[in-house]
Order: sequence, then structure tokens, then C-alpha cells
Amino acid sequence: MEFYGLENYFSFACLAGACPSTCCAGWSIQVEEQDYHRFCQLERQELREDILRHIQKRDGKYFFQNRADGSCAMLDEDGLCRIQRNSSEEVLCNTCRKYPRLFRMRQGILYFSMAASCPVVSHALWQGKMSYIHGEESGKRCSIDGRKIPISRRAWECFDRQEEKCSLYRERIGKRGLFWDSLGRLFDILVEMLSELSQRERQPWEDWILLYEGIWDAGEGMHCMDASEGKDFFSANGQKGEPGEVLFSFFQEWGERWQDFISEYLAYRFMGRQAMVDEEPEETFCQSMGEAYLMQAACFLEYWNRGALSEEVICGWIQRVYRLCANGREGERKLRQRFYDFYQEKSLWISLLF
Ligand code: SF4
Repeated sequence: MEFYGLENYFSFACLAGACPSTCCAGWSIQVEEQDYHRFCQLERQELREDILRHIQKRDGKYFFQNRADGSCAMLDEDGLCRIQRNSSEEVLCNTCRKYPRLFRMRQGILYFSMAASCPVVSHALWQGKMSYIHGEESGKRCSIDGRKIPISRRAWECFDRQEEKCSLYRERIGKRGLFWDSLGRLFDILVEMLSELSQRERQPWEDWILLYEGIWDAGEGMHCMDASEGKDFFSANGQKGEPGEVLFSFFQEWGERWQDFISEYLAYRFMGRQAMVDEEPEETFCQSMGEAYLMQAACFLEYWNRGALSEEVICGWIQRVYRLCANGREGERKLRQRFYDFYQEKSLWISLLF
């Protein structure tokens, strides 16, 4: 059997108690049928009853219940899972045991990817440490370029075509932003989605919206600007220190890192999603670009607010955006549609991508 995917999959080490994130918050954790039956057979009555009491059936599938704050009902206050605490990792359901690893067998080939909602993965992405591998049953393994993974016949052709289209737009409009327009559209999407999120997940996005409103007030009337000239534009208009200047220093300070990250993220996400989900390559491309844009926009707002950024803050947003966009809920479908619509409007959002 052949396999392709992230080499990081094999070297992954969970941060466990040192992890700043709670991986079982903000998701609907599905319990596969065989795991449900295994739980029903657990010898320890107390544990068995605890688990079964917190599983509910929806649309013929089993899920762990979530508390109002979005955390899993099996999570104790100290952040430890009661199943792990009272038994061992082997007893966990498959979903939890394999997280953040993702895999899928397609047409006789096994594909591996990982979820960027895990800090180990988001840091590897930000630091450019993702690598890809091809392996064969004979045990032969070799590193390969992620963009050469044969996910489908048309996929990378589509990826290259879309990327070229973005470059053309970028050349034509320079870095001229429809920056405020783009942020404004994201704002609409997020406001629309807030009701879909749990209280715990909602907070950072509510802060995002407040920040955006602050910037909007400061930059009102600026529907179009060139990031590289934003500083001059604002100075000329007597608005020193206002959004153009902040955007200018954001580009100066972080431009190159973002450029590298976006290229890394697009390859990772496009490969992973095309391998795991049945959808058209164009949709995956829009989804991946939309997510990258949202990550960058969120970090720009943080930069505006704090006057600085750190790797920790950036990776926190990578995890949050990924969780928002890949949670399998109705919201994810809506968001994808909005990214897709966005893209049809002459790629408003690519203006912020370096
Ligand atoms: S988010 Fe990742 S590193 Fe943190 S506990 Fe979960 S699997 Fe481990």
C-alpha cells in the first residue's frame, strides 16, 4: 500500500499537560459506532455510566455532549479528560485518540494530514517545519514536495491556475487594498456566525469585532489604499499613526514571514482537505485562501491593538481560525460559501495577502 502525507504525522508528540490549548473544546466530538459499543462493554461500572450519560445520539450518530462553554462534558475543571484520568489512552474514542492526526484511504492510497487547531501543528506551520513524505509497502520512504502529492488528477492543476490568477490580480492592483472592504466583509461573516459558536469560542471573535469597529471608525472613508503607500497617504491627510501607518509597519515587520506562511499554509491545507473531503478543487482553494486571509486579518487587528505580535499570538489565531473553519458544523458550510462568493468578486481578499 502506498501512502502520502505529512511527515510530521509520524514525529508528533502531544504537549499533554504543557499544552496551552484544550483540544476537546469547540468541536462536536463524534463517537464511532464501534467505540460506543466498546464503552457499553466497559467493566468499570462507574466509568461506563459516566461516559454513556454524556453521549447523545443525533441524526443516527453518537456525540459527546458539550457544555455551554463548548468544552466536552468529559473534561474536568483541571483540563484533564475523565476517561484518561480513570483508565488509559486506549479507552478513548477513536476521534480523541487520533487527534490531531487525520487520515483517509482513497482509491488504494493512504493520505495523512494534521489539524492546525493543535498548537504543535500551528507552530510547525508558522515556523515552516512541515514536510511531506511518500512511502511504499516495501518500507521505502522518501521526502517529497507537498505540491507533488497526487491527491487528484485535476487538483494541483487547479491550484496552480488559481495561484496564477491571484498573482495576476496582485500585479494589476499592486498591494492596493480593498482592504477595508475586505475586512468589512469578514466582519459580516463573523457577525453572522457568532450565534453558531459556543460562549468559549465566541469571545475571541467578539473581541475581533470590537477591534474591527475601532479601526473602521479610524479609517472611515478609506475604501481603497495601497499598503506600501498607506503611510504617505495618511500623513498627507494629517492622520499620522492611523490605520495606513499601522498597516505599513505591519507589512514592513511581518510581510516576509506572512508570505512564507501563506505559501506553506495553502499547500498544507489544500493537500489535506482535498485528500480528506470530497469537494471541487476550486472550493478547496477558496476555503484555504479564505482561512489564510482571516488569519492574517485577525493578526493585523491584534497588531493594531497591541502594537506588536508574537509567535504565540499568531499561532493562537491560526488554531482559532482553523477550528472555526473546519468544525464540520453548518457554520463551516456557510463560511465556505462566503469565501467562495468572496473569491468570485475579483478576489477582494487577496489584496491583503503579500
Ligand atoms: S491540542 Fe495537541 S498538543 Fe494540545 S493536548 Fe491536544 S493533541 Fe496534545
